[in-house]
Amino acid sequence: MAPTFSFCVLHTDGAARRGEITTAHGTVQTPAFMPVGTRGAVKAVTPRDLREVGAEIILGNTYHLWLRPGDGLIARLGGLHRFIGWDGPILTDSGGFQAFSLGERRVITEAGIRFRSHLDGSEHLLTPEGAAEIQAQLGPDIAMVLDECLAQPAPLSAVKESTERSARWARRGRDRFLELQALGAGEIRLDSETSESRVPNPESRPLVTNPGQAQFGIIQGGTVLELRTLSVERTLAIGFEAYAIGGLSVGEPADTMYSVVAHTAPQLPTGCPRYLMGVGTPLDIVEAVSRGIDLFDCVMPTRNARNGQLFTSEGRLTIKNARYAEDGGPLDPACACYTCRTHSRAYLRHLFVSGEIGAAVLNTIHNLRFYLDTMARVRQAIVFGTLETLRQSLQAMFSRPLSDS
Ligand SMILES: [Zn+2]
Repeated sequence: MAPTFSFCVLHTDGAARRGEITTAHGTVQTPAFMPVGTRGAVKAVTPRDLREVGAEIILGNTYHLWLRPGDGLIARLGGLHRFIGWDGPILTDSGGFQAFSLGERRVITEAGIRFRSHLDGSEHLLTPEGAAEIQAQLGPDIAMVLDECLAQPAPLSAVKESTERSARWARRGRDRFLELQALGAGEIRLDSETSESRVPNPESRPLVTNPGQAQFGIIQGGTVLELRTLSVERTLAIGFEAYAIGGLSVGEPADTMYSVVAHTAPQLPTGCPRYLMGVGTPLDIVEAVSRGIDLFDCVMPTRNARNGQLFTSEGRLTIKNARYAEDGGPLDPACACYTCRTHSRAYLRHLFVSGEIGAAVLNTIHNLRFYLDTMARVRQAIVFGTLETLRQSLQAMFSRPLSDS
């Protein structure tokens, strides 16, 4: 186990856990939500805004940072924390999901994912070893192992084959991660980030910018419960600092996702945080917390904010609606964010319909604050044993029609 990474459970309420993750860049109160900073920036906001809305950990995307500006450049400038001006905990994904999402521009083989860059069409090979090397150079506190993301629905045989390949990749990615940890800080990479492939190279000297980095394994298996169990067995046998559940929130019904989480989470070690990747709505999050999940990420609050879709204590709100044209009240009377303290719905609507950049900024500040406040309420409810009451209120708030439609 990486010496600086640890997790402890402070309270429980049923299967839900109130805990604390310790990393080389500080602690994270769990259950936690990670704003998504795809290209080293949470769109429309600054690290100062992220602190003010209560973010404790953010996510960066390996695929994007590898291709531009390059993990080598970021390493030479001191690592991702220094490069983006965020000194709190960071998690990076493995790059697999984005490479997979390129559709016809990518081919998956046993070696890895061969693809053409969305930027300039150049060809690259992302291997399990390469994903570990890139993340060693970026230096997040939590790195993710490369896994295969399978399009759903898929035939059972394809899900099985993919689950087994992900387990083989996990072994390769873990082995390389451990080699790099042993190498330690201060080793200079000789082949630059412009190298065409990420095939393991004994001559390569990645710059390990965060010696306290932890690596999470990922449970796959689609919606087939037996394959989820198989994936848990294979992944736990390799041994990671913690485990994520991947391959959900890709279009399956919510009930199916909850069933897979309820089946999988209890099979993961109680002493490690559990991360449900890419989920979800406020209701999805509380449903997953009640099934034992500790860590979440999703583009929904930030993407919806830029589209004028806002989460409030009264439900969803579409700011462009004409009914807000002369509404001098705050966006959400129950919210204490900068946007709600300072501006009216009328002004936010004006900014949005005028296409002003400020609309994205102010809406993003509010939506992130809503998500992070919701996580604080979730944590408090676990301590007081009232998570089910909170779940019911979120269900009532977000399952009814839009408040303004
Ligand atoms: Zn607000």
